[in-house]
Amino acid sequence: MEVSDQIGERFVRMSREEIARFQGEALKSSVAQAAKSPWYAAKFKEIGLEPGDINSADDITKLPFTTKDDLRLSYPAGMLAVEPERIIRMHTSSGTTGKPTAIFHTREDVDCWAELMARCLYIAGARSHDIFQNMSGYGLFTGGLGLHYGAERLGMWCIPAGAGNTARQILLIRDFHVTVIHATPSYAMHVAERMVQDGEDPKRLGIKIAALGAEPYTDEMRVKLQDLYGFKVFNSYGLSEMNGPGVAFECEVQKGMHAWEDGYLFEIINPDTLEPAKEGEVGELVMTTLRRDGMPILRYRTRDLTRMLPGDCPCGIAHVRLGRMVGRSDDMLIVRGVNVFPSQIEEVLMRHKWLGGNYVIHLTKKEALDQMTVKVEIAKSSFDGSIDTLRHQRADLRKELREQVGFGVDVDIVEPGSLPASEGKATRVIDERG
Ligand code: ADP
Ligand code: ZN
Repeated sequence: MEVSDQIGERFVRMSREEIARFQGEALKSSVAQAAKSPWYAAKFKEIGLEPGDINSADDITKLPFTTKDDLRLSYPAGMLAVEPERIIRMHTSSGTTGKPTAIFHTREDVDCWAELMARCLYIAGARSHDIFQNMSGYGLFTGGLGLHYGAERLGMWCIPAGAGNTARQILLIRDFHVTVIHATPSYAMHVAERMVQDGEDPKRLGIKIAALGAEPYTDEMRVKLQDLYGFKVFNSYGLSEMNGPGVAFECEVQKGMHAWEDGYLFEIINPDTLEPAKEGEVGELVMTTLRRDGMPILRYRTRDLTRMLPGDCPCGIAHVRLGRMVGRSDDMLIVRGVNVFPSQIEEVLMRHKWLGGNYVIHLTKKEALDQMTVKVEIAKSSFDGSIDTLRHQRADLRKELREQVGFGVDVDIVEPGSLPASEGKATRVIDERG
């Protein structure tokens, strides 16, 4: 297969006009396809909508939203839109926030997903001669097979290492001269810090490209990882409900993730009013599948908060760019009445070279008052034996955290490697306020 077919180049190179035209047609057929599922058939009947009412992409607002609860209510197969014998794969979400939901794919769906994923890796610079190690869990989690199929489609030499077993990961990277990896940012950080602790330099691994995603991370975390490994980090976004990875990915410019508008129709809404967010404003990402037959999903409320970046990307790709995820709406902490996202804390921590990359936010109550304690590991080489220096550094950090969130935050500096390490999505918050 030619590269242009592997990545669906005719889609990648679409102009804004072509995208708009394509989306109008694709939305019409996606809605007609959805109407074949018991769930959407009933839903359309309830609101008196005929698939023929949808004639252009602008008609999207006539459609109802779909929520995670709808997916749970329609479980196991209420949204199945084809004969079951056409399904060749199912996945479930990792269940970060409760009972998992099941998603079904036909052969064409799996093929389309592989194409979307392959082009993600391609725009980041990966090529068929690269050696790719997938350090994310296989199985129901989409980060395994999702990346795997995309990487194979691009023709890379794929090592399905799976999650965990850090010593083996490092061995494989070394022995097979891996040039491209996929992992969660927290696990990539763990691997690097383990190496540093063992007196080794992650730069000597020679990895060039890291696709990191599946959990929120800050630009400061990206910089720290790039410094440690000497590779370039590309943000990778996706969710099981929308296949998984392959939804949006950074190009070589590394400024926002191109979101594939032939695969999905993207909206940003104000989560309170459900109205479209103002241009460039942060809101909840809402997505509609445009190229999935087995289980089309309309206007899915992702609960992920982000914005669409204004302007054209210098790389020439016209597909819209999404900014870094601020977090999930359900990640937001309310501490002493103040809204705080874990990413705001991370941003401050990662600016400090003397700190490591692993941290956890501990919330407790002291006499009815919320207390926030940030436990963070010190970097391996940065303690010079002076308690005084450490005391000053800690005081500076507390001051910066207070400025960031607006209330006093306690800081607990701990030994390198002493906090629980994540192999997949990191648990950053422990809330013991009851
Ligand atoms: P679950 O919803 O159970 O975690 P998934 O494995 O489908 O199941 O995870 C998808 C979610 O992971 C997204 O909705 C988003 O919250 C998060 N996520 C994925 N990629 C990124 C990324 N690059 N940045 C921030 N968050 C991400
Ligand atoms: Zn670009």
